[in-house]
Amino acid sequence: SMPLIIVSGLPTSGKSTRAKQLYDYLAARIAETDPAKYRLHLISDDSLSISRAVYDLSPDTVRLHTRSANSSEKDARAALYGAVKRVLSDKDFVILDGLNYIKGWRYQLHCEAKAVRTPNCILRIACPVDQARQVNEERLQRINRHPRKETSDDDAAEGQAPPGDGSGQPEGAETPAEPYQQSNWDNLVFRYEEPNPMTRWDSPLFAILWDDTEAQTKRTFDSLWDAMAGEGRKSIKPNQ
Ligand code: ADP
Repeated sequence: SMPLIIVSGLPTSGKSTRAKQLYDYLAARIAETDPAKYRLHLISDDSLSISRAVYDLSPDTVRLHTRSANSSEKDARAALYGAVKRVLSDKDFVILDGLNYIKGWRYQLHCEAKAVRTPNCILRIACPVDQARQVNEERLQRINRHPRKETSDDDAAEGQAPPGDGSGQPEGAETPAEPYQQSNWDNLVFRYEEPNPMTRWDSPLFAILWDDTEAQTKRTFDSLWDAMAGEGRKSIKPNQ
């Protein structure tokens, strides 16, 4: 059976970057093992269109975003839980990219995995707090310098050529990521519940550091693969 990999880390600590690297790594491993046998999924706030604002505890900010479908953190968690539950099986690798900062939430996911007899592990993205803060501050500054314009149907009707080099690709390699409001970011760092490998739901625990090279990252992914899908994998007993 195939695992649930729960990414966990501070806001803007590089989780999505590492989750994407893990996705590419697993895709290659699956391709060389048995492509017909396994499927691979990457589930995240972005893939479910969950705004960073849902984590904001300040009532003003929350009210501004109540129009979106997953408007509260509770709704967001229900959406994430549903998305995981829908695909979790003995043929699916599921990477859940997100803060996953609540101990009880990770426990709930662990129980869900156990219920379908699939192993789970934690991929802890470890990053100095100041480094993560700097990433978010840069994103906030970018947004303040270039406030994002709402695209309306009128723009499309005018048939304007898209900005950029004409290749149809948006300018820049990546779409601008949504920053966390400063108080939201500070609060999430404060609320973060460090995974504890002494508990069964937070183990096995793998960690990647901000400065980890490609080679070191690959070694971590190798041990994750061995523990989750390879020879080293322990069988899941129903009452473990
Ligand atoms: P998160 O998913 O935790 O919010 P991201 O993966 O979006 O964080 O990363 C935030 C920013 O930091 C991105 O611009 C990304 O390119 C950069 N970044 C992430 N990890 C690293 C790293 N290990 N070294 C250098 N830059 C990184």
